[in-house]
Amino acid sequence: MHRVNHADNIVELKNVSFNYGNDRVLKDINLNIHRGDYLGIVGTNGSGKTTLLKIILGLLPPSSGSVKLFGQDAKNFKDRSKIGYVPQKVTNFDANFPATVEEVVLMGRYARRGLFHSIKEGDRKRVRFALEQVEMASYENRLIGELSGGQQQRVFIARALVTEPEIVFLDEPTTGVDKGARDEFYQLLKKLNEDLKLTVVLITHDMEGVAYGAMHVACVDHTLFFHSSLEEFLKETKLNEKLERDARIIAHHHQ
Ligand code: ADP
Repeated sequence: MHRVNHADNIVELKNVSFNYGNDRVLKDINLNIHRGDYLGIVGTNGSGKTTLLKIILGLLPPSSGSVKLFGQDAKNFKDRSKIGYVPQKVTNFDANFPATVEEVVLMGRYARRGLFHSIKEGDRKRVRFALEQVEMASYENRLIGELSGGQQQRVFIARALVTEPEIVFLDEPTTGVDKGARDEFYQLLKKLNEDLKLTVVLITHDMEGVAYGAMHVACVDHTLFFHSSLEEFLKETKLNEKLERDARIIAHHHQ
């Protein structure tokens, strides 16, 4: 596991609260995300995860408190190419959707350079590199709709990587992805964090999912009531016991 530089924060939230009308959705959140971290943000539905993400990205202003991205006030932050975003539910393409894998990933470059900018060889190289990172290079010319949910999700990671971001946020990325593909997907995130030194923020209700590679875990239920190492999280939730039990059962079945 590579080291995290704790002096180097990409995201800094201080005493952040947020209300929708009279409903207090987030209360007094203090959260730093360090360069090189792989942070899992977990919480049940309605706990405020998506709201927190929108605040971190500067899409919603906090009702009180301060938000900094790369040391700047989030609402003034302009260099969006430093931030990658993989949304949930991208698996709705039908088999006839007329875009290839390469075209879908290229869209990540257009966002940076403007839609009518001509495609340069450099863009194609970046697309190829991003697809290699997610082990999908051999699918470059396939139609996106012909791929499985797990493969489509990898392509969407490649699209987020193509601007060479320093941090990537994933919002419930494994919705609609089957169990086997999900485990591989989490392995991939860990690899990107380690090999590319990419800072990864995984937002999910899947507590076991974060166990696959997160370095730290933050738990949200309107407040941030836990933020520590993965090891502490597994102990606190007794998830370590469950995972060991599952591993024993699997080992038993394979005997
Ligand atoms: P999560 O992502 O953890 O499911 P959300 O951040 O989406 O949680 O929602 C937190 C709470 O805020 C929920 O009670 C939800 O109903 C409420 N909420 C979300 N978006 C809005 C909105 N646009 N207007 C009013 N209430 C909202």
